[in-house]
Amino acid sequence: MKKNILRFAPSPTGYLHLGNVRTAIFNFLLAKKNNGEFILRLDDTDQERSNQHYIDQIKYDLEWLGICWDRVEQQSKRLDRYKDILNCLIKNGNVYECFETTIELDLKRKKQLNSGQPPIYDRQSLKLSDRDKTELRKKVSSYFRFHLSGNKVTWKDKIAGDVEVQTNVVSDPILIKANGQFLYTIASVIDDIDFKISEVVRGVDHLTNTAVQIEIFKTLVGSNPEFAHHSLIVNSSGENFSKRANSLSIKELREKGVEPGAIFSILVNLGNGKRMEIKNDLPDFAKDFDLKAFNTSPTKFNTDDLYALSRVALSKLDIVDISAFMSEIGIPGEKQENFWDMARDNVQKRSELNSLWNLCQKGTTPLMLSEDKDFIRLAISLLPEHPRDEKSWKLWTDKVKETTGRSGKDLYMPLRMYLTGSKKGPDMHKLFPFLEKAKKL
Ligand code: GLU
Repeated sequence: MKKNILRFAPSPTGYLHLGNVRTAIFNFLLAKKNNGEFILRLDDTDQERSNQHYIDQIKYDLEWLGICWDRVEQQSKRLDRYKDILNCLIKNGNVYECFETTIELDLKRKKQLNSGQPPIYDRQSLKLSDRDKTELRKKVSSYFRFHLSGNKVTWKDKIAGDVEVQTNVVSDPILIKANGQFLYTIASVIDDIDFKISEVVRGVDHLTNTAVQIEIFKTLVGSNPEFAHHSLIVNSSGENFSKRANSLSIKELREKGVEPGAIFSILVNLGNGKRMEIKNDLPDFAKDFDLKAFNTSPTKFNTDDLYALSRVALSKLDIVDISAFMSEIGIPGEKQENFWDMARDNVQKRSELNSLWNLCQKGTTPLMLSEDKDFIRLAISLLPEHPRDEKSWKLWTDKVKETTGRSGKDLYMPLRMYLTGSKKGPDMHKLFPFLEKAKKL
């Protein structure tokens, strides 16, 4: 049986955002589901816009989300391979040399648009004689285009269904620019062939690309991988998420305290018509992941949902998943389990564990109504010493009740307010053993 090999191919020219992470997740889950391989491919042939900072950040973000790759490939390290293939294509007449400058091409496009024609490259360079070309080479750097057949390209897309693209309405794609830069169109095809990619899963914005690339695949090896094009996610105003709309970069969401589990749970579930399920371990979604559940129409994404889900994802974390963070903020190992049990349903984000731990260690500015002053003074004088356990709160409040005659809300609320500085918070039975400091009155 053919091995499942999938890839996620970001260009390191910006931070990962929700849109491209969704693509990464789909590819990763399909690889996991079928015991396949998952390659992180860095599409960095554009040396001017790509940089190491973004490569590092992409890797960091993916790992943070639990998307682990089997190996990394980098296009900038494969330029010799692309050159060899390009030369073959030139020799076989599939690729032709062109000489127009960017300005000339722009002008042509504008003219076509003004006269109501589609802005398709007119193949003027194909008409040049060998002598013309020799002369032109002395003046300008040439670039190369792939000669499309102009036929209809069809394929069975694993999400979009039967797709047809007429390649006579598409310009012959540029494969290498005049400055020597290989373009994604050819580099990606060569990589997909060399790495034996079985399935290419990417956004529906790549449909035309796919038709063009299928022609290149067919020319080079006579066959192509399977394709699946998923919908793009849009915000509430219907705009796509993109690198430029930096507001929803993974980096920024992490800095805002959003849980990775909330991000991947929402991205896996969005647009599949099923009930939202929150899991904190990405591979847990692999078994039931099925491209058939998705479609290509824009998928609405609401950031407020993400924050709400983040709270749920956080509360569902097992102690082993949060223990490293608790150690980092100084909560001793032996206290972590009980602390997490007390805190898990009362924090919106991890950083709030820090404030809660501080409250326990250092106490807080008490909240007290003036009419409760005597009551509090008496209650505080009855506070039990440490160590306390989950029974201590009841024992103490029973004693306070007996002494003061207060009960119910009149008894408990002033005590909570005084000890925690707030009217709301964790179950006092669980919190009380951790409260090391209470201000004397
Ligand atoms: N670098 C391309 C992109 O980010 C990859 C597309 C593909 O998956 O082939 O759009």
